[in-house]
Amino acid sequence: SIPLGFFGGIGGASRNGVLVKGGNYLEALNNVKIAVFDKTGTLTKGVFKVTSVVPREGLTREALLEYAAYAEIHSNHPIARSIQEAHQGKVDEQKIETYEEISGHGIKVRVAGQEILAGNVKLMDKEGIEHGKEKVLGTVVHLAVDGQYAGHIVISDEVKEDSAGAMRQLKELGVEKLVMLTGDSREVGQAVGNSLGLDEVHAELLPHQKVEQVERLSREKGPKDKLLFVGDGINDAPVLARADIGVAMGGLGSDAAIEAADVVLMTDEPTKLAAAIKVAQRTRSIVW
Ligand code: ADP
Ligand code: MG
Repeated sequence: SIPLGFFGGIGGASRNGVLVKGGNYLEALNNVKIAVFDKTGTLTKGVFKVTSVVPREGLTREALLEYAAYAEIHSNHPIARSIQEAHQGKVDEQKIETYEEISGHGIKVRVAGQEILAGNVKLMDKEGIEHGKEKVLGTVVHLAVDGQYAGHIVISDEVKEDSAGAMRQLKELGVEKLVMLTGDSREVGQAVGNSLGLDEVHAELLPHQKVEQVERLSREKGPKDKLLFVGDGINDAPVLARADIGVAMGGLGSDAAIEAADVVLMTDEPTKLAAAIKVAQRTRSIVW
């Protein structure tokens, strides 16, 4: 039978803005040794702002932004929202003929007879598009139209105010290893990792490679140790399922992620996770 204290613990967690879907997860929270985080929307705000628009010669900034706005029209990715915001003009949905979102890469659309690609270097390489290789700080969306490179848009995100504090608290609570997994570039990943003092950063990952990283980390830990993964659910549902404890950010998170998760943070503050572990530790001291 489940000790009553567990129910008290779950109630305590919920008063702290954390939904724990069962006593076994509350118990597991006591043994977290490895905490793995998605970047966008989890450690960073996930609210991107376009900071520069750089078309190839012969194309205007407005034209490049318009191509991007068409490409991103049906995407829910935070990148897509920032592009819609920067693009002032109207986008005619009727003109979209085909639409494909390629997870971890970007978008491919046909609009009024033209094929537009919008995404990262991996997408450009995959489609055989020659692209600029200059180093820029920020997330870069490259664009191509009918097989020809059209330019790039730089977008920046910010680390959440409480991410650094949350990482410190987790270490104090006994978490030994803090890891970030991201599909974004190495430069952006390292910058965020350094500012938060993370132990490991793995960048330029496709969703299935995030799963592989979690599997590798799982093999490193002791039999009683738990691996926890926190994500916003935008293409990280498979990782959420693979972790010992899958944690979804309830505010930005998708319904599918909230359903797949074992623990849901009702607000998007990473410090809520530290609060949940504290409740779990307190509950254990009452039960045993
Ligand atoms: P993260 O791991 O940071 O959450 P994602 O896995 O969601 O990032 O995306 C990885 C990368 O794929 C992004 O940094 C971007 O380069 C590219 N990408 C994904 N979706 C889009 C999109 N809608 N438009 C442009 N690029 C995209
Ligand atoms: Mg993501």
